[in-house]
Amino acid sequence: MIQSAEEFVALRSSEVMAEYNRSAYEKAPMQVWRDVIDKYPDCQLWVIRNKTVPLEILDTLSRSDHARIRSEIATKRKLSTELFERLAKDADVSVRRHIAINKKTPLHVLEILRQDNDADVAEAAARNIEGRKLKGGFELTYAHPGKSGAPLIFPFIGENLLINADAALPSVETLQALGDGWQAVQFGVLEGQPCEMRVWAQKTPLPEDLLIGDFRRLWGVWSAAYLAALIRARQLAAWLAQHRFCGVCGQATKMHPTEPACACPACGHKAYPRISPVCMGLILKGNKMLLARSPRFLPGVYSALAGFVEAGESAEAALRREVFEESGVRIKNIRWFGSQSWPYPHSLMLGFIADYASGELVAQEGEIEDLGWFDFDRLPALPHPASLACRMIDHVRKRQGKRRSSESAAPRRYPLE
Ligand SMILES: [Zn+2]
Repeated sequence: MIQSAEEFVALRSSEVMAEYNRSAYEKAPMQVWRDVIDKYPDCQLWVIRNKTVPLEILDTLSRSDHARIRSEIATKRKLSTELFERLAKDADVSVRRHIAINKKTPLHVLEILRQDNDADVAEAAARNIEGRKLKGGFELTYAHPGKSGAPLIFPFIGENLLINADAALPSVETLQALGDGWQAVQFGVLEGQPCEMRVWAQKTPLPEDLLIGDFRRLWGVWSAAYLAALIRARQLAAWLAQHRFCGVCGQATKMHPTEPACACPACGHKAYPRISPVCMGLILKGNKMLLARSPRFLPGVYSALAGFVEAGESAEAALRREVFEESGVRIKNIRWFGSQSWPYPHSLMLGFIADYASGELVAQEGEIEDLGWFDFDRLPALPHPASLACRMIDHVRKRQGKRRSSESAAPRRYPLE
């Protein structure tokens, strides 16, 4: 905790890097902040950059004569709602532009800026609003169908999603043609609306005006939030379709009232949605990465190696084994990248980056059609950009790009129909 304006100024003027970083996070009482901005105007920019500075101080500084200080304030992630509103209405154009792109600007303020006289500001605000919608929330829940407003319905026949010809979800009226024999689960909240999945039996005839949704196609059409909901609904539909009867005693199961479980009323057995972990490894060797194609991939598409985790196996051991089986290569320095739920049919992709240790490339027969070490700058066609594999490849290329400080040609992407 900084105790005086002088201490803050001393911290700021220190040339030691550790001190420099510290000054961005160091807290101070309100009076110290007031003293710094009154007595040391040269330090105002550094005050704004401090992550802990109170909103009141930002409010005060937003009236500064310096355009740079006003712009910096507008890029701050968080301001008071009143300040956002005031800046959107009164500030000069460079500040309004910052407010328009700030990810924390409230939606109602962005709506004001969408009507701005400056075309750049209006366009940036519109893009920000659109981006929020795309990112927009899908929140995972589990409940029996409730009475909380009209739900958004994801209909399935068995494991197949039903959609309209325009790829939108069908209306309740359209679904009446399928009859009453469905099971339902409320599985989440999408952009504020509760989502319900309804599953009809596998052999239910498909009404004329509905289609079976092709998932890979919807990747290019639906927003990220809708896809997140679909990924969950698809896996729950498969689970319901496969657990109509108890695996222990053969009785018909019932939905458990509070847990995501198909429960057996006779013996008490509970079957939960199945999740199958898959390890994916992007293996690096100097400025090359190991990519392979499975016979199942679209023509020309290559990706990172991947395989299911076996019972009794750790994720790291599974990765070492799969990479060796598929490519003949031993790996080292395994590091975690990230994960992704993948509904084909119920996988959880676990992404790792690792380094080549030893071995010659030998493609596993039947599993791998072709594989090779690809230069970061000369990559083949890659999977869909939203896939974990593509995100890992992009991450490695970007990091490499920074090191070389040169732009390399972007690889072709998985083609969307
Ligand atoms: Zn049973």
